[in-house]
Amino acid sequence: MPQRPYIVGNWKMNGTRAQLAEARAIDRGAARHSGVRVAIAPPFTLISTMVEAVQELTVGGQDCHSQVSGAFTGDISAMMLKDAGAGFAIVGHSERRAMHGENDAMVQDKARAALDAGLEVIVCVGETEAQRDAGKAEQVVGEQVEASMPVGEGFVPRLTLAYEPVWAIGTGRVAAPADVAAMHAVLRAKLVALYGDEGSNVRILYGGSVNAGNAAELLATPEVGGALVGGASLTADSFLAIVAAA
Ligand code: PEP
Repeated sequence: MPQRPYIVGNWKMNGTRAQLAEARAIDRGAARHSGVRVAIAPPFTLISTMVEAVQELTVGGQDCHSQVSGAFTGDISAMMLKDAGAGFAIVGHSERRAMHGENDAMVQDKARAALDAGLEVIVCVGETEAQRDAGKAEQVVGEQVEASMPVGEGFVPRLTLAYEPVWAIGTGRVAAPADVAAMHAVLRAKLVALYGDEGSNVRILYGGSVNAGNAAELLATPEVGGALVGGASLTADSFLAIVAAA
């Protein structure tokens, strides 16, 4: 059965309580598009208040620690996200990989922790511009998938994979639909190799400068099951235009 497209907003380090009005407006809009699943990952500080403010949206975290608790100043565990009412965690975002030194093994541990806490998880992968220019995009991203996705069974329905070319994030540059289709076909094959038949049902999102103008074409691309959206998820007008395009 075809799944509903999944549109996920990543608010990054943006948003105070004043922006809950946008979340409420997005929530009202999402209710008019019941054929689309809509989610927002706000900063940690807004998770519990956003959970209380919305009805249709799934609210999630932008990261989680691999341990349940302990001496990890400034970190948040998956169990804490769950306790705050989150439904999912994003792990392995390229900004975490680049700015916080997270490697595939760490991302895999975080994904496992999110699953163990009962959350859904969105695992992000993507190549740099230099890797694409060197003709290595599919190899690099394929290796990231193999080393970042959690191993085991019993949790595959709670997995989402997000392909986000690093050079397309926050730059206004979008991957060509043909390149997205080629990469998503590679990712689908990897998911089936990792998880067997269940791997065919794991949603693969595209992320990287998705906006109202390019969303329809990207979302119509084979194997694109939704979008992970940064900048354009911050206001109801721009985010709901993407939801409508799905
Ligand atoms: C992201 O941060 O995951 C992202 C895709 O950002 P943007 O949409 O702003 O490129």
